[in-house]
Amino acid sequence: MSLPADYHMHTPLCRHAAGEPVEYAKHAVAVGLTEIGFSDHSPMARDDFDNWRMNASQLDEYVEKVRHAQRDFPQLTIRLALEVDYLPGHEDWIRDLAARHPWDYFIGSVHYVSDSWDIDNPAKLSEWNQRDAFEVWSDYFDRLTMAAESKLFEIIGHADLPKKFGHRPTRDCTPFYEKFLAAAAKSGCAIELNTAGLRKDCREIYPSPEILRLAFQRGVPITFGSDAHAPEEVGMSFAEAVQLARDVGFRECCQFAKRKNRMIKL
Ligand SMILES: [Zn+2]
Ligand SMILES: [Zn+2]
Repeated sequence: MSLPADYHMHTPLCRHAAGEPVEYAKHAVAVGLTEIGFSDHSPMARDDFDNWRMNASQLDEYVEKVRHAQRDFPQLTIRLALEVDYLPGHEDWIRDLAARHPWDYFIGSVHYVSDSWDIDNPAKLSEWNQRDAFEVWSDYFDRLTMAAESKLFEIIGHADLPKKFGHRPTRDCTPFYEKFLAAAAKSGCAIELNTAGLRKDCREIYPSPEILRLAFQRGVPITFGSDAHAPEEVGMSFAEAVQLARDVGFRECCQFAKRKNRMIKL
C-alpha cells in the first residue's frame, strides 16, 4: 500500500521545530513517502504577535529552504505551503501572504480563540482552569467554521485541537461539528487527519472518528499530516491514519498543486 502525501510539517524558522527541510525530505524517502508538503507557521502582520513563528521578513528564506529540498530530492514531490493562523480580521493579511509566492496550498488552523490565548500552548495551560471546556470548544468551532467559510484555505488543520491536553466538554458538541463541516462542504475545503494528536495527552488523531464519520457523510475530502516538528516525525502513524480513514469509508484523498485540488485513490 502506498502512503498518502504528508502535507503538514515545519522548519526551524518557527522557533520550536528542529531539522532542516532537506532532513525532513530524507526521512520522508526513508519511510517510503512519495509526496510531502512544508506548511510552516505563517508570519503574522505584526512580528511581535507571539514567539512561535517566522518573522514576515523570513518568508523568502523559508521558500528558499523548501526549494533547496526540492533540488536535493528530485525523486520526491515536495509542495510549498503554509499553516496559516485564522483569526477574524486577519483576512487581508492572509490574502497578502497568498500573493507573495506560488503556494501549493494553505492549511487554515485555529490556535487562538481570542487575540491572546492560543489554546494549544503549553505555557498557557493554566488558562484552561479559568474556562469552561464547552465554552472553549464553542468559541473554537465558531472560528473554525469562519475559517472554512473564508475560502482562504484548501485544508483545515487539526479540526478538534482543543482536545490536545485532554480537556473534553461533558455536553454534546455534535452541533458544532455539523455546522463546521457544512461550511467546509459548501466551500470545498478538505480536513486533515493529523497524527500529532497521537503524540499528545489526548492520544487520538485529530479529528476524532466521530467528526471524520460526519465529514465522510457530507462529502468533505481529506488530507494527511504528521505535523512533524522534527525530521523523524515525518509520516509518523500514517498506517494507522489510513486505516481510520478507510474504516470510516474514505477511498480517496486530496492532492494539491498551485492551490488546485486533485482526488487520488487511498
Ligand atoms: Zn508548531
Ligand atoms: Zn497547528
